[in-house]
Amino acid sequence: MEQLQNFIHNRFVPPQSGSYLENFEPRTGKVYGQVPDSDERDALAAIEAASEARASWARTTKEERSTYLLKMAELIRVHSSELIEAEVRDNGKPIKLASMVDIPRSAANFEYFAKVIVGQTHQAFEPREDYLHYTRPTPLGVVTCISPWNLPLYLLTWKIAPALAAGNTVVAKPSEVTPKTAYLLGKIVQEAGLPPGVLNIVHGLGHKLGPTLTTDPRVRAVSFTGSTKTGEVIARAASPLFKKISLELGGKNPTVIFDDADLERTLSHAARASFANQGQICLCGSRILIHQSIYQRVKTELIKRADGLVMGDPLSPETQHGALVSREHRDKVVGMIELAKKDGARLLCGGTPGGLGGELAQGYFLRPTLLEGLPPEHTINQEEIFGPVASLIPFKTEEEAIEIANGVGYGLAASVWTENIHRAHRVAHALEAGMVWINSWMERDLSTPFGGVKASGVGREGGQYALSFFQEQKSIGLQIHPEKKS
Ligand code: NDP
Repeated sequence: MEQLQNFIHNRFVPPQSGSYLENFEPRTGKVYGQVPDSDERDALAAIEAASEARASWARTTKEERSTYLLKMAELIRVHSSELIEAEVRDNGKPIKLASMVDIPRSAANFEYFAKVIVGQTHQAFEPREDYLHYTRPTPLGVVTCISPWNLPLYLLTWKIAPALAAGNTVVAKPSEVTPKTAYLLGKIVQEAGLPPGVLNIVHGLGHKLGPTLTTDPRVRAVSFTGSTKTGEVIARAASPLFKKISLELGGKNPTVIFDDADLERTLSHAARASFANQGQICLCGSRILIHQSIYQRVKTELIKRADGLVMGDPLSPETQHGALVSREHRDKVVGMIELAKKDGARLLCGGTPGGLGGELAQGYFLRPTLLEGLPPEHTINQEEIFGPVASLIPFKTEEEAIEIANGVGYGLAASVWTENIHRAHRVAHALEAGMVWINSWMERDLSTPFGGVKASGVGREGGQYALSFFQEQKSIGLQIHPEKKS
């Protein structure tokens, strides 16, 4: 059984405790590997390595850093088969998704920031003819990147790439539930020849490692993606120490379908928005708001599409709907469905775990599930479930749709479906969300700002927004003397 190791100072090292956690394979429900159960000592060793490498990495030119990042991108592509299989076995996602999204996007993250950094320009201000101010982007030093299990390598590299491009050294902590691709990234770092200590990866439990990774005096910034609950813990720990924090948190995103929407197109996107990656994408539309005049038709069609998704072995290329990430998470999602039923929801499809035989009999499967009949203020329509569960909610007017859409604590993303261009923009402007898609869902461009409002987070990732998080803009003022004086 494979035993993963921490990656510190470009060496694979065991956790100082000598203890390991079991790594379960979601498709079979069986243990298939071991992950370091690291503690404060390992976190400190990683911070020490990053701290030692800080000054020399900050002195590299942006062209040199860009070259390293391009090499990382190239090597992710070279090793993509191994990375894809690792992501599928760790996470339970369909191999088609890992092949088309997770791993290509991880390479693209490095490639993109390799290009952005070389194009970064300074600003100059000239308040008087004899005075010049200019800005100089300066790296922060050691930064911590903490990522969740749903898009493991994709989200980890989305943080690491801009952090390194900006000239910082990194301590990364992937979710202990999906550690394998982060472990393989260490091998890629060795092969790319990054200097020791520039990128360090520590595996283990968040509550054990978090306090050190977010409060050590040498750590200047914490970039976190995960649940709102953990985001709050991190903010409480790091904010009083004046560390920069970026928090990408949960969502309860509405898919708002008006009666003039192009239904054929809308329905296929709405189903994908609800169930992609088994509903475990922070951008998934878990509340489907439907104009009452088309409610029955949309409901019937959505049920057909949800039932039509091929659930099966995540390693099979035909599979469209894989396993949930862990038994605990699957049980939590099923618990929410039970709560909904108890409170009077009608279960339209899905809802029962399991359903596959052979070696997959103990896998964490749950069919795409649709519910209706609960008021917008019910827990099911308020709390993030983060699984293949969507709730249908009818509305009568545009105002009511906006009120329901905004009537939650979260504000990450939304999609609006209408052929009326005026309504599309009006509603997009009124929605309390960091990102709104019109007649589309999850169209991502790496340069656009990414992040939420309300309980969905603080700060923005993407393009210049990520670089500005990982850098300080130093302002330098210069007096220009009109005559040369010796
Ligand atoms: P968690 O918040 O449970 O964990 C995220 C990461 O934080 C993990 O690596 C976890 O480690 C670590 N962690 C846990 N406790 C602490 C702590 N006290 N200090 C520091 N780190 C800690 O989220 P999940 O992994 O369950 O991911 C799902 C959540 O992520 C959902 O809420 C989803 O919406 C959100 N998400 C948000 C995105 C966005 O961009 N807004 C994108 C993707 C997901 P460990 O695994 O050991 O607990």
